[in-house]
Amino acid sequence: MIPAAFDYIAPDTLEDAISALKGGGEDAKLLAGGHSLLPLMKLRLAAPSLLVDLRKVPGLDGAARENGGWRIGAMTRHAELERNGELGVLARAAGTIADPQVRNRGTIGGSLAHGDPASDLPAVLLIADGSVTVRGSGGERSIAAGDLFQDYLETSIAPDEVLTEVRVADLGEYGFGYQKFNRRSEDWAMVAVAAVVKKVDNVIEDVRVGLTNMGNVPLRAGAVEEALRGQPPDAERIARAAEQAAEGTDPPADLNASADYKRHLARVLTRRALEDAAGLS
Ligand SMILES: Cc1cc2nc3c(=O)[nH]c(=O)nc-3n(C[C@H](O)[C@H](O)[C@H](O)COP(=O)(O)OP(=O)(O)OC[C@H]3O[C@@H](n4cnc5c(N)ncnc54)[C@H](O)[C@@H]3O)c2cc1C
Repeated sequence: MIPAAFDYIAPDTLEDAISALKGGGEDAKLLAGGHSLLPLMKLRLAAPSLLVDLRKVPGLDGAARENGGWRIGAMTRHAELERNGELGVLARAAGTIADPQVRNRGTIGGSLAHGDPASDLPAVLLIADGSVTVRGSGGERSIAAGDLFQDYLETSIAPDEVLTEVRVADLGEYGFGYQKFNRRSEDWAMVAVAAVVKKVDNVIEDVRVGLTNMGNVPLRAGAVEEALRGQPPDAERIARAAEQAAEGTDPPADLNASADYKRHLARVLTRRALEDAAGLS
């Protein structure tokens, strides 16, 4: 379908992008890779009157180590994350997004700002102690991952704010696993699980498990983490802990899966992701 008519600008500076966004009011939208926004516009589920394209704004690209963690520009493409093996579970998750065409255009900033609970990167942001930096007409602020995702397609980023960068911890000392279940290899996740495990002297010192599509926002599997912290990483214990993966979740049923089936998937995928992260598989 053809989208409703809209104006388009591509400012050269972040300041111009912010003032264009503010001037356009609620009907103005930022454009990054366009791979979530444009399909919505073509279906006429979104009809912004102004698109503010970020492609010419300098300083929004690339991932670099900074202050013991990673600083990743909002316009960094999924394909670049995928190629950077040092990003561990983030690189692995990015590599499962759709197909090369989508990964070459879609951006980490667009994915996080869109707030789709089926997206792969939000749960990784949660387990990587992540945060985003946003800048608007009122200045700059940082939003922790736990405060970013508010509801289905709803984040705490204000309409006149631009997500400029993403911060994640360096999880270099952690093993990781990423398990995603879908009908076809390039589909969105029915459920996905990201897990990281840090072992010291054959004891799990730290473990974090992130769940995708198990509610309206990405979630941590807190009961699983609690059951494993301080324990030896053996397969039986991991399997028992993974049985608690769906605790406290409220997965929406959809065309692909009932809520119960998603809970089942969460348990199975959590076990597999933890086995990978603990080096047991
Ligand atoms: C066929 C297909 C399959 C896909 N499969 C998957 C999948 O399996 N897993 C997955 O995770 N994703 C998937 N995606 C989505 C893809 O990852 C998108 O690229 C991503 O969700 C949005 O990023 P974008 O850069 O394209 O954002 P855009 O579409 O340009 O923007 C998305 C939203 O975010 C806002 N926005 C963008 N950038 C910023 C910013 N810097 N600051 C504030 N707001 C901003 C826009 O205004 C818009 O509301 C798929 C997409 C397609 C088309």
